[in-house]
Amino acid sequence: MTFPPISNWFEKSFDTPLIIAGPCSAENRQQVIDTALELAKLNRVHVFRAGIWKPRSRPGSFQGAGNVALEWLMEAKQLTGLKMAIEVATPQHVDFALKHGIDILWVGARTSSNPFSVDELAHSLAGVDVPILVKNPVNPDIELWLGIIERFHHVGITKLGAIHRGFSPFRRSSYRNIPKWEVPIDLKSYLPTLPVICDPSHIAGRANLIQGIAQKALDLAMDGLMIESHINPGVALSDAKQQITPGELSTLLDSLTFRKQSSANAEFMDTLETLREEIDSIDHQLLELLWQRMELVERIGRHKKENNVAIMQLRRWEEMIRLRVELGESLGLDKEYVKNLLRLVHKESIRKQAEILSQGGELSPE
Ligand code: PEP
Ligand code: MN
Repeated sequence: MTFPPISNWFEKSFDTPLIIAGPCSAENRQQVIDTALELAKLNRVHVFRAGIWKPRSRPGSFQGAGNVALEWLMEAKQLTGLKMAIEVATPQHVDFALKHGIDILWVGARTSSNPFSVDELAHSLAGVDVPILVKNPVNPDIELWLGIIERFHHVGITKLGAIHRGFSPFRRSSYRNIPKWEVPIDLKSYLPTLPVICDPSHIAGRANLIQGIAQKALDLAMDGLMIESHINPGVALSDAKQQITPGELSTLLDSLTFRKQSSANAEFMDTLETLREEIDSIDHQLLELLWQRMELVERIGRHKKENNVAIMQLRRWEEMIRLRVELGESLGLDKEYVKNLLRLVHKESIRKQAEILSQGGELSPE
């Protein structure tokens, strides 16, 4: 599968990285127009985004303004010249969007988790020459993400791109959605010509984390950024914490280092950088897991103390080592390496429990 670059999506080519910005939701005419005018003034935003049918987790929250918002977006387009992008989840949404002249459609994370919905969308888009951006499914399932892109490609859509918006946290995390950078990197290695854009707003969940994530995306040579921007985030009806004003977006964009595409050893440097970023991401996850493990060790320590238990559970420790070394070996990891690593982890667990059981008594492994 090959895909045209973003710069060739429209008659007038624009420079990449592509910058998409706009509110999480279109709320009313004034909010849409004011935000679009401010964003257009920055002269760096290519596409205005706004959700008009919102897939909210809980019923009763703001569900989006619906069809009437299409009129507001078209007015904003006329006033600013910005391309307009909205999320579509049903063939009916596609129909309304295309009738009104929306320029780019995106498929949200919840919809891209459901192949039935995507099949319906793909059929409604057959023969239509509108760019489609596919957000990653909520769980880190590369096959599912690839499969959704294939479904659109099979009906003849080639102006396709992927949006990396992170993955639902299955553990405590500082992010709203865990980036797991290795997943979009994998996607790029399967489909090297596919444009991949990052949505740091939905990864971050908080305005102050957006910059770091956006920079990482640029360092990974991603093809664009989608950032939520609202004229007055404090009163936003959805995702208020992660939206930034157009002025803040301007400061943020100024602070980013846009990587040059070429250097004397571009290929070597790019590969090295990509691999290092993957390592960084994995180390980040390793440390978060170690932190979670330590919390469990503390609970075990307190539990033992409360129950006055101080038995050296040697068998448990031996069994743990045996099973983990076996697992490590089956993954191709050196036996001594795994043993040393476990010893280190275990030693710190013992030290922690010693702190908790500091009144004395024997210590036992977790
Ligand atoms: C959005 O872009 O506002 C949105 C709902 O995002 P996601 O599908 O990534 O949750
Ligand atoms: Mn949002």
